[in-house]
Amino acid sequence: MRKITDLQFENTYRKLPEDFYHLVKPTPFNNPHLVAFNTDAAALIDLDSREAQSPEFSDYISGKKTLPGSDPLAMYYTGHQFGVYNPDIGDGRAILLGEVRNNKGESWDLHLKGSGRTEFSRVFDGRAVLRSSIREYLCSEAMNGLGIPTTRALCIIGSDEKVERETTERGAMIVRMAPTHVRFGSFEAFHYTDRADYVKLLADYVIEHHFPDIISESDKYSLFFSEVVDRTARLVSKWQSIGFTHGVMNTDNMSITGLTIDYGPYGFLEDYNPEFTPNHSDSFGRYSFQNQPAIAHWNLNKLAVALSSIIDGERAQKNLDEFRNIYSQSYVDIMSKKLGFNEELPEDVELIKRILDILVNNEVDYTIFFRKLGNISSSNSDDALYIVSMFEDGTAITDWIASYKLRLKAENSSDSRRKKEMDLINPKFILRNYLAENAIRKAVDDGDYLEIERLHRILRDPFSEQIQYQDYAAASPDWGKKLVISCSS
Ligand code: AMP
Ligand code: MG
Repeated sequence: MRKITDLQFENTYRKLPEDFYHLVKPTPFNNPHLVAFNTDAAALIDLDSREAQSPEFSDYISGKKTLPGSDPLAMYYTGHQFGVYNPDIGDGRAILLGEVRNNKGESWDLHLKGSGRTEFSRVFDGRAVLRSSIREYLCSEAMNGLGIPTTRALCIIGSDEKVERETTERGAMIVRMAPTHVRFGSFEAFHYTDRADYVKLLADYVIEHHFPDIISESDKYSLFFSEVVDRTARLVSKWQSIGFTHGVMNTDNMSITGLTIDYGPYGFLEDYNPEFTPNHSDSFGRYSFQNQPAIAHWNLNKLAVALSSIIDGERAQKNLDEFRNIYSQSYVDIMSKKLGFNEELPEDVELIKRILDILVNNEVDYTIFFRKLGNISSSNSDDALYIVSMFEDGTAITDWIASYKLRLKAENSSDSRRKKEMDLINPKFILRNYLAENAIRKAVDDGDYLEIERLHRILRDPFSEQIQYQDYAAASPDWGKKLVISCSS
């Protein structure tokens, strides 16, 4: 394990032409201090967790001192924001410190968010607030715990610097990690400035580093696009099955490697409501929960346009047409596992639709329902009462449970094995908004960071019982359901 000054940097993005980025150093805080540190993420870059104790750690990781081997830069990208092309984005408040190679040969971007102004900052301050940094930190690690591809979070650095948002808040930085931060918008940037040569160069770069299996194929660019369609469809199927709503699915927030990236006004479904739109500023619900698959498809269309100089148009259209099938198949696979089925039968799709409709009409907590369903016995006829009691109208759910039990019998399901399997796919703990809010309030109001640590510990392991944290598995209190999330961050 290495010291913070001893990380093995290998900065491949820096070797691309300078039109791909601006070289810029972080603007340090006066009094940087450690708010949260993630030993899981540290292990990915061979960083000795004891380093977090050293006062110098915060100085190095937040750019007050220069990390030996780092070569900071702000990445250039553009993108479609709320359906409209914006030629003017890029890392406006984040800096890629560099890429760290670990002892397994994996490469991890260290990306510092909230690090001050860059050439891409436009009129904004280049900062991030503690509130949004905590939200990103907790959610990326919660998603990882849930088995959903995501960027990771190494640490949060706090400060006493004032940052103006709706109110005056305190500035913070988060160190985010991912194999790459290239987005759909990175390709759009060069397509819309007529730099087909750079589109190709970026595709070559991404294929070499992240899709090495196809590097020798003669049609590698078309295969690359098809792979991105596949990964994106599967990613969104995971979001839909867990109830995650990203909130701002602009093309600049779409990872080229199919990760969840850029946690802003996201939210997890609590009562099952397909129209759920966590971003209060998204008045038309463009990025509502139910729209996410269609938006992912729309974004992939924009990626196809951006890659049009190097891929075959007809093939790309076929890939886009396949999106729906890949998505649906993956979604049904996950949902049938959530229901505890080992095989898929044709009637399962109907059973899934029926239960989702019943959940909508009864405003039942999605996560709690599926977790409890694991306890049902296929033979005992009374044991479903505890589930029925969650519903306002008991009739539809009673009928559904009868069909469900018949379906379980059809594959001779064993109750104990099914319960074990269901508990591995139906989480007990999700990051409810109010839980994040509690951790934020303690941190912001009292400088108490223990709740961040506690929540992180619970959420990194969301499928295990953790009886001592039973309260964290309960439905949100009323105040928690009414919390409003704006996109200010
Ligand atoms: P986001 O909504 O975080 O994905 O950001 C969209 C674009 O706005 C990106 O180019 C960001 O870098 C930029 N941006 C957002 N907030 C700020 C800020 N406070 N200062 C500078 N740029 C920002
Ligand atoms: Mg973004």
